[in-house]
Amino acid sequence: MKKVFTSCSLADAYCVRALLEAEGIPCVVRNETLLQGQATADGHPSVWIVDDGRLEAAESIVSGYLSGEGLSRAVGGQWKCQTCGELHDPQFTTCWQCGTDRTRDR
Ligand SMILES: [Zn+2]
Repeated sequence: MKKVFTSCSLADAYCVRALLEAEGIPCVVRNETLLQGQATADGHPSVWIVDDGRLEAAESIVSGYLSGEGLSRAVGGQWKCQTCGELHDPQFTTCWQCGTDRTRDR
């Protein structure tokens, strides 16, 4: 089993699973509990392929999905400053516009 995709959005995980299965790559979705709104640090929905030998093919499908439309938000994805509303990439911990520290509101 190898994890090929993680997302905050269960819909994204299902979408990736559908894409993989369409290519004949068996896979499963884990951490579907987010459906009940229970987001935890490691509780994001993730997609795992059953056959490790298909990892390369699976990853290329996933990256194609990520670069395309339909992904609402990747894990640790962009965050929004609560003061000025600016969007930031995950590596930033402070708003570059107004200096407000990142806060987690979900
Ligand atoms: Zn700001």
